Amino acid sequence: MTAATWGHHDDQSIHHNDQAKPPKQADKPGTANGDRSGKDFTRKGKREVIQENKDQNEGAPHCVDCDEPTNEPKKTVKGDKRDPKETNVDHIVDKANGGDGSPSNGAVRCFLCNITKPPKWPF
Ligand SMILES: [Zn+2]
Repeated sequence: MTAATWGHHDDQSIHHNDQAKPPKQADKPGTANGDRSGKDFTRKGKREVIQENKDQNEGAPHCVDCDEPTNEPKKTVKGDKRDPKETNVDHIVDKANGGDGSPSNGAVRCFLCNITKPPKWPF
């Protein structure tokens, strides 16, 4: 599970660091074209992404976009509304672009941000 480094230009100087915190999932570059390229996460993979997020947020998962705490997914019965703050594990690099279905390409988003996120690769 090594992060691919392919001439990726990372200008750290533009990062505004108020506090010394461990890197957040929001700063993960994601990975693509690995073993699980274009695939969904395994259940184990999802658990790892959620655990990583919890470790960064004092035990409670937080959405990488809105930074709000997210809730444990519940079993939904037909007709139930989805919880907009449900914990979703999302691909950082989209599956359509070869994004990996492995924890190195996963981040926690709430359900609402997951369905409303703008396309990241507008080509
Ligand atoms: Zn959110």
